[in-house]
Amino acid sequence: MNPDVIIAGGGIIGLSLALELRRAGAAVVILDRGEPGREASYAAAGMLAAGDADLHPALRPLAGAAAQMYPAFVQQLELLSEVETGMSRLGALYIAEENEACASVPLSAREVQDLEPGLARQDGVHLLEETCVDPRMLTQAALAAAKRSGVVVHHDSQVQQVRFDDGHQLVVCTERATHTTANFVNCCGAWSGEVLGSAVPARPRKGQMLSVIAPECPLQHVVRSREVYLVPRTDGRILIGATVEDVGFDKTVEPATIQCLHQSAANLVPGIGEGRILEAWAGLRPGSPDDLPIMGAGRLPGTFVSTGHFRNGILLAPISALLMSQFMQGKKPDVDIQAFSPARFLKQKQSRIS
Ligand SMILES: Cc1cc2nc3c(=O)[nH]c(=O)nc-3n(C[C@H](O)[C@H](O)[C@H](O)COP(=O)(O)OP(=O)(O)OC[C@H]3O[C@@H](n4cnc5c(N)ncnc54)[C@H](O)[C@@H]3O)c2cc1C
Repeated sequence: MNPDVIIAGGGIIGLSLALELRRAGAAVVILDRGEPGREASYAAAGMLAAGDADLHPALRPLAGAAAQMYPAFVQQLELLSEVETGMSRLGALYIAEENEACASVPLSAREVQDLEPGLARQDGVHLLEETCVDPRMLTQAALAAAKRSGVVVHHDSQVQQVRFDDGHQLVVCTERATHTTANFVNCCGAWSGEVLGSAVPARPRKGQMLSVIAPECPLQHVVRSREVYLVPRTDGRILIGATVEDVGFDKTVEPATIQCLHQSAANLVPGIGEGRILEAWAGLRPGSPDDLPIMGAGRLPGTFVSTGHFRNGILLAPISALLMSQFMQGKKPDVDIQAFSPARFLKQKQSRIS
């Protein structure tokens, strides 16, 4: 039997959407090029930085709604999958630059000392109410939850093209098979533009990160400055990130860049400088020409796109899934997604020609 929906891409965006559509009663198949959940969603730090001052204003309603949804989203994933997501609600310490205007009042030196004694600076430190998750665990939980809910997941199935066949049926072509479906959603992250027939202007934005273990310097909170962030994991690792680079699909990890990130982290939390590097990696964030998500109808009837979540895809996963599911069912999305429509790029192209 043909599925109601085929989703290309089993990262956190595709998996969350599959779960939401399944909840609405749809028969859903995910096709992933490799192993689901091993690309950007595996590389991410997992900060749910809904209140970040640098967040694009158009994203704020989405980010706020996502942050509200997160506890229930995580609870649902953990219940369905029996996999934990490493959620921590302790908050983040933001270290402002000199003369940087911040919405909140800085903590006193005493408060900083009590909260995070390892910080080098005790002035200009702001406590942000913020949650974080372990994206590797979250994505594994979402994958298991999707499978247990009846979503069919195919690994090693790279979608090459989506088109109509001679019988006017929508077909999704991989190297080895052709699948007929009523609806198709492109959730291929940084690779969304590679699917023929989709015409999605996604672009990869590389991020390099490392993790260290520093037993002498246990960190409780996310610590963030304009330059670098540190994210403690429940198992004692501390993640340090991240670069934002425009280098195409290159995922090379550069030792000099990793050393630089490690040094910047040590400038904030000196004890981290003594930490042993456990792992260093790079991932490709799904970017877009205006750095905003691309969500809405695709070029062909019955096709849709949900990508371009750039630096906030872990945060935005539950709200994107809900809004796209509503949109695909012809309902009015709870939050307006017009600003994220793929059609905005079409308009730009046309006006450049005329
Ligand atoms: C270093 C780094 C740090 C980050 N930190 C954070 C953070 O703290 N908080 C936050 O909210 N976000 C963060 N992000 C961003 C976040 O990781 C992404 O926005 C999010 O993971 C995007 O999810 P996705 O499912 O769209 O893409 P991906 O996770 O990349 O998934 C895309 C999937 O599509 C598959 N695919 C590709 N092409 C095809 C094809 N042709 N056919 C079938 N399948 C295909 C891939 O195999 C992959 O599984 C970070 C990203 C990076 C790189």
